Amino acid sequence: MLMNMKELLKVAQKNQFAVPAFNIGSGQILKAVVQSAEAMQCPVILAIHPDELSFLGDSFVESCKAEANAAKVPMVIHLDHGGSFEQVMRAIQCGFTSVMIDGSHLSYEDNIEITKKVVGAAHPIHVSVEAELGTIGTTGTSAEGGASEIIYTDPKLAKDFAEKTGIDTLAVAIGTAHGIYPKGMKPKLKLDLLKEIRDVVAVPLVLHGGSSNADEEMAESVKIGISKINISSDVKAAYYKKVREVLKDNEGWYEPNAIYPPCIAAAREVIEFKMNLFNAVDKVKLY
Ligand SMILES: [Zn+2]
Repeated sequence: MLMNMKELLKVAQKNQFAVPAFNIGSGQILKAVVQSAEAMQCPVILAIHPDELSFLGDSFVESCKAEANAAKVPMVIHLDHGGSFEQVMRAIQCGFTSVMIDGSHLSYEDNIEITKKVVGAAHPIHVSVEAELGTIGTTGTSAEGGASEIIYTDPKLAKDFAEKTGIDTLAVAIGTAHGIYPKGMKPKLKLDLLKEIRDVVAVPLVLHGGSSNADEEMAESVKIGISKINISSDVKAAYYKKVREVLKDNEGWYEPNAIYPPCIAAAREVIEFKMNLFNAVDKVKLY
């Protein structure tokens, strides 16, 4: 069931769970996410970053569409961190049902302006729009990048921003960073700030940089009212750890259908753990 983000997260917001958004960097990860979604009866977001789209090619979106249309599970194909109006338009033309325009590095006024422009183009064709206010940090280990200093989202501005732009979802900065935290770097999540934002912003809230955070903090953020959590690095790290092991243990192997199944299984373990953590398992029946 392919749908847009507004339809998907309306149910999540009402029922206090967060839909996981997994970055689909390859065909094998797509397979892992779709298999887990069906097995766990968990709605999912197939997130593709512009760098991933450039690598995979536009035709890959056709595979995502085919999977989503065939699945009996609600799915959204979402552009992660769209960097310009042109990039967003390309994604919409490919068939994405949701796009993020990331103007978080711009001035407040310019962020509003570019976001409004995207909303104006996307909404008439039922494509949802996510924007970001404040900055997500970077660990220096992921393709999504991020800011070297986190600017926490201001609740009053968040309310004003959501109302002025007409966005469907808002990514908030409460202390997470993209990628895997290096040893000694501990994220400081401000869950009280999240409560303040939740109290004044009407649209569903999104947490970026969901990998390698404390499980209790992620579960708590869902209880407070996060409706979508982005996970990229944790799944890819488990998947490629297994790829390295399989290749090391079987030096002569070269058949993809022999090498990848255990790696897909390793990715699925993480995927399904996150689905449980976000209280999203067995929620398909609510759609
Ligand atoms: Zn992100």
